[in-house]
Amino acid sequence: MSLAAFPEAVHVRAPGKINVYLGVGGRHEDGYHALATVFQAVSLYEDVIARDADDFSVSVVGVADPDTVPVDDRNLAMRAAKMLASATGYTGGVHLELRKSVPVAGGMGGGSADAAAALVACDALWGTGVSPHRLHELAARLGADVPFALHGGTAVGTGRGDQLNPALARGRFDWVLVPSEEGLSTPEIYARLDTHRAENGALADDPPLSLDVPIPVLQALRAGDPHSLAACMFNDLEVPALLERPALDDIITEGLHAGALSGIVSGSGPTVAFLCETPESAQYVQAELEAAGRTALHVHGPVSGARIISA
Ligand code: ATP
Repeated sequence: MSLAAFPEAVHVRAPGKINVYLGVGGRHEDGYHALATVFQAVSLYEDVIARDADDFSVSVVGVADPDTVPVDDRNLAMRAAKMLASATGYTGGVHLELRKSVPVAGGMGGGSADAAAALVACDALWGTGVSPHRLHELAARLGADVPFALHGGTAVGTGRGDQLNPALARGRFDWVLVPSEEGLSTPEIYARLDTHRAENGALADDPPLSLDVPIPVLQALRAGDPHSLAACMFNDLEVPALLERPALDDIITEGLHAGALSGIVSGSGPTVAFLCETPESAQYVQAELEAAGRTALHVHGPVSGARIISA
């Protein structure tokens, strides 16, 4: 038997996501909106390194403004570690180093990816041996997007977005992402949507509490056809995000002008995701956007969920 039963450090990588489709229904009594969404995990990653420690702490690298990411109990990765410890009776602690690449408050689920990575890393570090089912339960308690960051790939999310079913997706989809320097608050964008709908009479009387993803979205993913997918990408949060940040409309216009098949605000924004026909056309769109002074990242999906890189 080896001297060290468990590793001293565990490195886990988890992906950011794009909502290829996001339909928002009425608000449940618990405050959450009914959702029907299709997530796709893309090759923009959060790296979390968990090291053995007596208590719980978080450090963050890779963000321009450190004040945007809390390092106390508000940090979703910290909450994930503490939740796993209390669920399993683990009495020690952990230091979590978050190496962030997903834009903070960018609508790409960066904090959720950190939480999913922290669950997987602490489980391995502490040898708690939690079942995948239990890990999913803990993830869902942390936030609606956390279970998807665990699973990755392409998936349909219903309920609060946390009831996941894998979606068949053939091949690879090439995306160009344009992040913004300043994030948007997810609760504020949902509140904007509610106000906007109330003002316009939409869904005011009978907002649906159960929604489905339209069949053409699922067919386009199954066919691996970016043209068909581009024709049916949709996000109910795009209107409130554009109301909050009208300049996003210029970014969408620029990307379409550069040859993207479609451009959409990702989740609650402000990151804009452009679907491109091929890797080469994505490189071209990226170069054009950069020439116009934008930050643009070429990524692809689907990629796998939180996984151990080294232990
Ligand atoms: P959401 O998951 O709410 O849709 P998002 O994907 O737009 O959010 P995140 O980067 O996950 O954006 O962060 C949203 C907010 O959560 C941040 O503004 C920050 O205050 C807080 N937060 C908590 N933990 C983290 C974390 N590990 N990384 C980034 N932000 C975090």
